Amino acid sequence: MYQESPAQRKKTNTKPATVETQAATPEISYIVGMSKPWTHLLEVEMRLAWAASAPAQAEISMPVWTPGSYLVREYARHVESFSAADAGGNALMWRKTDKNSWQIDTKGAKEIVVKYNVYSNELTVRTNELNADHAFFTPAALLMFPTDNLKTASTVRVAPYKNWKIATGLPKVEGQQNVFRAENFDVLYDSPFEVGNFKEISFTVQGKPHRFVVEGEGNYDLERIAKDTAKIVEESYKIFGELPYTDYTFILNLRGGGGLEHLNSTALQWNRFGFSGNQHNNFMTLVAHEYFHVWNVKRIRPDTLGPFDYENENYTKLLWVAEGGTAYYESVLVQRAGIISAKEFLEGKAGQIQSLQERPGRFETSLEEASFDAWIKYYRQDENSVNNQISYYDKGELVNFLLDMEIRSASKGAKSLDDVMRYLYNEFYKKNKNYTPEDYQKISEMMAGKSLEDFFAKYVRGRADIDYNAILRGIGLQLKDNRGRETPYLGANTRQDGDRLTITAVPKGTPAYEQGLNASDQIVAVDGARANQTFLQNYLGEKKIGDKVRLTVFRFDELREIEITLGGRARPAYQIAALENPTDEQKTIYRGFVGIDLK
Ligand SMILES: [Zn+2]
Repeated sequence: MYQESPAQRKKTNTKPATVETQAATPEISYIVGMSKPWTHLLEVEMRLAWAASAPAQAEISMPVWTPGSYLVREYARHVESFSAADAGGNALMWRKTDKNSWQIDTKGAKEIVVKYNVYSNELTVRTNELNADHAFFTPAALLMFPTDNLKTASTVRVAPYKNWKIATGLPKVEGQQNVFRAENFDVLYDSPFEVGNFKEISFTVQGKPHRFVVEGEGNYDLERIAKDTAKIVEESYKIFGELPYTDYTFILNLRGGGGLEHLNSTALQWNRFGFSGNQHNNFMTLVAHEYFHVWNVKRIRPDTLGPFDYENENYTKLLWVAEGGTAYYESVLVQRAGIISAKEFLEGKAGQIQSLQERPGRFETSLEEASFDAWIKYYRQDENSVNNQISYYDKGELVNFLLDMEIRSASKGAKSLDDVMRYLYNEFYKKNKNYTPEDYQKISEMMAGKSLEDFFAKYVRGRADIDYNAILRGIGLQLKDNRGRETPYLGANTRQDGDRLTITAVPKGTPAYEQGLNASDQIVAVDGARANQTFLQNYLGEKKIGDKVRLTVFRFDELREIEITLGGRARPAYQIAALENPTDEQKTIYRGFVGIDLK
């Protein structure tokens, strides 16, 4: 179901889809060249051909963002050397009509050829990089679309440098070399490309081919990665009963970090020497996250997330499910696959409870608000974020975990969040419907067999502190707080950069906050002695709660002295453990959850 959000009004064609406008749909083909990779310029040739007559003016636009990464990135800023001509090479007049759109006078030509270069020197999972070693590109950051015509099919021919190989999730056009086809722009923009001399491993799960493509050298074990990835795919298959693609490609670049989900592929980045010991498990957790998105967000779609508006923000209150729910399932999948133990799984959740409980922002922003404002907040963190924001990933993961526990205990182990996901997949995705915040609550209630209004009102729409024990008890668990005695503290977060000790954030309610320290203050001395991170820690450790310390700080260019009375704090040390005397029912539900006995 297509729902038009207010943000999608700007350029929407208000004319009815008459025969005339359908005939105005051009055939589109691109050639992506990289003849001088060391210049970082990807060379794009875009052909638009009309069956009947071309409109007097053709308009094309560059997306301003790419789905999965909710920030306006203004990809058009990297476009240069733009030109337009007819098929015979005669130049056509053109002008820019807004920051990301170009209008071309076709002079009645039935085919026009647009050429431009895109400066590509930023390797992230949502940008482009071309250099002497390889090319990675994100189609939304490279290929323009005919404005208002996102349903058009297109082909992409890649002209690789020398003997570089090509990996993408797009299907090949039979009989043509290096040509791929996308049925519409949502598919084209969902298919990143890696072009280079990458290593590759293939494996089959449930009869479907999967491949892992790795660019760069490092201490990874490709066989082990493939084996563990296959287990993750298998565990996902068990939830949904099918793999909704013909093949799947994992593209891994060994630099930076992070991942971006796509319909039948994912772009991953990881530190090249980040695969030994437990680091391998952390990497597999990233793989599980991006892979679970195959369902959660790419097919189980929140209200406004698809079809997309590529020129404006697409607002949704559901990123806490799309991202937070996926963050929860990343841990579920690696635990079910045996990559981490149930104990490690619960330790992870306790760690997340700790970081949420230490974040004053939990009283300022709800999960729905954090989701909605991702565009201006999550991707634009600053020194005050700790005080006025929560992460819809981190709190979203916790709340989906707790929702799972609520459903499991209310249904006496008969249902779980798996049933919610499966229902969304079968009853929404397969019926071409996106889901709303109300749907998510209703389906969860259907599985729990009871109202969850209180849960959603407090923890999803509201900003209440979470009563963890009330929920964990249902599956025989409890949250323990092993905090020690109170010690003196200042409460400012600091960073040591060379010989500079700088305050990075001042959480609300701390002595630092109440008594006037600011983020960016550079602490030069404490009670007249030169300060650094270690000294400050040791020195404060010798003090008593209520003692005064004199801080000498540079604020902007001026030296000043600030006296602070130290407060007292015992940092929480949370642990999720079994109840002392769990009932048989709690034991059964726990066993159904993680597959081992409660102890
Ligand atoms: Zn994600």
